[in-house]
Amino acid sequence: MQPIKDVFPLLESPKKIFVVAHHKPDGDAVGSMLALYHYLTEKGHTVSAVTPSAVPEFLEWMPGVRELVNYEEYQEKALKALDESDIIFGLDFNDFSRTKHLTEALAEATQPKVLIDHHLRPAPVWDYGVSIPEKSSTSEMVYDFINLAGDNDLIDTDIAECIYTGVMTDTGSFRFPVTTGDTHRLVADLIDKGLKQSKIHEYVYDTWSVTRMHFVGYVLLEKMEIFPQYKAGLITLSKKDLKLFNISSGELEGLVNYPLSIANIRFATIITERGDEVKLSFRSKGDFDVSTFANKYFNGGGHFNASGGRSNMSFEETVTSFKQILSDIHPR
Ligand code: 5GP
Ligand code: MN
Repeated sequence: MQPIKDVFPLLESPKKIFVVAHHKPDGDAVGSMLALYHYLTEKGHTVSAVTPSAVPEFLEWMPGVRELVNYEEYQEKALKALDESDIIFGLDFNDFSRTKHLTEALAEATQPKVLIDHHLRPAPVWDYGVSIPEKSSTSEMVYDFINLAGDNDLIDTDIAECIYTGVMTDTGSFRFPVTTGDTHRLVADLIDKGLKQSKIHEYVYDTWSVTRMHFVGYVLLEKMEIFPQYKAGLITLSKKDLKLFNISSGELEGLVNYPLSIANIRFATIITERGDEVKLSFRSKGDFDVSTFANKYFNGGGHFNASGGRSNMSFEETVTSFKQILSDIHPR
C-alpha cells in the first residue's frame, strides 16, 4: 500500500469517485463518508457514496445523507457507479468482507483502491492509503486527509458536522483512551469554524422513544448477567426479546457498554440473534484485547477495546459456548 499522499496526483483532474464504508454503517462510517463526499464534491469530483446497508435512523439528519445510496435497496445503481468509477475509497473498514454483499464486486474491481481506516490488520488489497489503529476514528483521519491536501479552509459546517459525528460516536463522546490531544484540537478547529456541537449530541443521543427506554430497563433487569470472577458482563437478546418491544437493530446501539459502568467490570459482551445469524459485540476497558478475542473465537475483529464477530451456531449454543470460553480463558 502506497502512502495516502501519493493519491493526490490522481485527484488533480476531476474524477468519478466511489466511496464505500462497512455494512451496518455507524456514526463514524456515515460521518467519514459524508465528510469525504462533501470535500471531494467541492474539489470538482463526481462522487458516488454507497452504504452496503441502510443508514440507521439516528443519523438521518446528517448533511448530505440523502445522497447516500443503500446497496440493499438500489443494487443496480450502486454497481453501475462502482463500474464507472475511476477511483475507489474504502472508509472505516479494511477487509472487503465487511461490506457484505459488495465483497465480490470490490474484489473484482480493477480501479485504484484507497483506504482510510483505523481498524487492526488491514487486508493486503489496497493500492494507496492510511491505516492507523491509534486514531480515534476514520472521521478524524478524513480531517487529516483534507489538511494534508492543504484544504483546511474548505471545511464548512456541513463537513464539520459529519466529522464531529464520527469522532464523537467512535470515542464515546471523547472519553475512550483513543481520544488524543489531536482529537481535541480537531474539535476546537471545527467549533471555530461554526460547528454547534450540542446540536449534534442532541440529534444523536436524545431521540429515544419511550419504548426504547423501557426496553433497556427490561434488558438490564432480565437479560444481563455479571461474572465478577471474570470482571465480565453479558447481555443476551433473542429474536423473541427484540420482538417483544419491536426493537430495531439501530436501537441496540450502545447497549453493550452498560456492563462497563459497573465497578470492576472490564469486559462486556452482547449476543444478539438476528435474522439468519448470531452477532456478537465486545467492549473492554484497559488491557484485554477484544479484537484478538473476536478474531480467535468468533470470526471477527475490530479494535483493541471494541470489536465484533459472528457465530454459525444457534443462539442458545452460542451463549453456552461463550460462557465456556469465558471460564476457559478466565479474563481478569
Ligand atoms: P460493533 O460491536 O459496534 O458492531 O463493532 C465494533 C467494532 O468491531 C467495529 O469497529 C467493527 O468494525 C468491528 N466489527 C464488528 N463486527 C465485526 C465482524 O464481524 N468482523 C470484523 N472483522 N470486525 C467487526
Ligand atoms: Mn470507526
